[in-house]
Amino acid sequence: MQPAKFKPYTRQTIRQASQWDLIPQELQEAVQVVSHVLPFRTNEYVLDQLIDWNNIPDDPIYRLVFPHRDMLPAQEYAQLRDLVLADTRDEAAIAQLVHGIRMRMNPHPAGQMTHNVPRVNDAPLKGLQHKYKETVLFFPSAGQTCHAYCTFCFRWPQFVGMDDMKFDAKETTQLVSYLRAHPDVTDVLITGGDPMIMNTRSLAEFIEPLLAPDLAHIQNIRIGTKSVAYWPQRYVSDRDADDLLRLFEKVVASGKNMAIMGHYNHAVELRQDVAQQAVKRIVGTGATLRMQGPLIRHINEDPRSWAELWTTGVRLGAIPYYMFVERDTGPREYFQLPLARAHEIFRQAYQMVSGLSRTVRGPSMSAFPGKVVIDGVATIGGEKVFALQFLQARNPDWVRKPFYAKFDPNATWMDDLVPAFGKERFFFEEDEPMPRKVIPLAAVRGNSHDCAVQSNAA
Ligand code: SF4
Repeated sequence: MQPAKFKPYTRQTIRQASQWDLIPQELQEAVQVVSHVLPFRTNEYVLDQLIDWNNIPDDPIYRLVFPHRDMLPAQEYAQLRDLVLADTRDEAAIAQLVHGIRMRMNPHPAGQMTHNVPRVNDAPLKGLQHKYKETVLFFPSAGQTCHAYCTFCFRWPQFVGMDDMKFDAKETTQLVSYLRAHPDVTDVLITGGDPMIMNTRSLAEFIEPLLAPDLAHIQNIRIGTKSVAYWPQRYVSDRDADDLLRLFEKVVASGKNMAIMGHYNHAVELRQDVAQQAVKRIVGTGATLRMQGPLIRHINEDPRSWAELWTTGVRLGAIPYYMFVERDTGPREYFQLPLARAHEIFRQAYQMVSGLSRTVRGPSMSAFPGKVVIDGVATIGGEKVFALQFLQARNPDWVRKPFYAKFDPNATWMDDLVPAFGKERFFFEEDEPMPRKVIPLAAVRGNSHDCAVQSNAA
């Protein structure tokens, strides 16, 4: 049998997919309209193997890749639909409206563009981010697309051509110089988009320089990727799949850890034989595969899906790592869940799995000051509170110090929370208060969950 060939579909070509006619007309219209604002790309494997077409639009993978009308407020949707479907299209008016909608959607949390970009001689290093002491993020230019686009993705602006908001590096010279000058850095996270969109030869050009003897302090080379779910053939049957595995082996043989940070959103992504083979082949090289992804309304609110995902992953040799809280960009209102509900889903899923799956942490917010996990809801001294702690922080001294916020059943993000017990500030705000909602969201959030899930180190 011929190996599967990667075949993408976009707004321009999706009508050619055999499944297009299975989509009711109203949903087709939504795809055509909303994909003017948010990126849309899927592929034949996702359409053929992952979506249950008898269950659309509620099928989780359909929701994961196909734009839906409720991702825009009704008035905005109607306005855009009238322009897009007009007999004579006014392209300038469409572009103007689309731009306005995108800017309203907080296209890039500002921490990424300001706080996390390292500078040398006062010049920003393109394609690098450094937020936590031990980890540098690297964005190779050839890895800034994905095998399919997730409708919730926080890196959506780069997929719609908002170039001024794009990180990328064409080669590793600056990265290597930066790492030489920073012996505290132990981890490099190569991220995107999805670096696994690159062929093995290109990927090797970014990885092999990190194996140089003078970078012995780099112990972990991580790659953030959704390919394990959207195109597992990358590790199994692609023409250079075996070469890719040899590259992983080379990293392991050098004494470093090759860590694949696999982005999974739903158990269905790991039910396919090819996806299971991919996991086995990755871990068979001596690389590690960690599983992470955000909790997203309409897609994975069912604790049983998380439990199945983690349990299957562990059986195959992967390590459950993070359940993230969905971030404040793009169609956030469509996807977000209250933190209290997120914690309950995590707790229920955690209760369903054996100790081997309990390596997972969550629900975790990659907020401006760091990664904050919701440990639980408690009543202390008569006050109902969220118990919180940092798993990662801009200041390492903050990590693992418990702190408390007033319980708020509607809070969906860190800056909705206020300190418990009548305090004015959280302990980490002594020098600088955490910005809150009165300030535009773009100015307060750090970057993060990545495949870029959406990155665990950002
Ligand atoms: S979440 Fe990851 S795979 Fe999905 S579109 Fe964003 S970068 Fe690509």
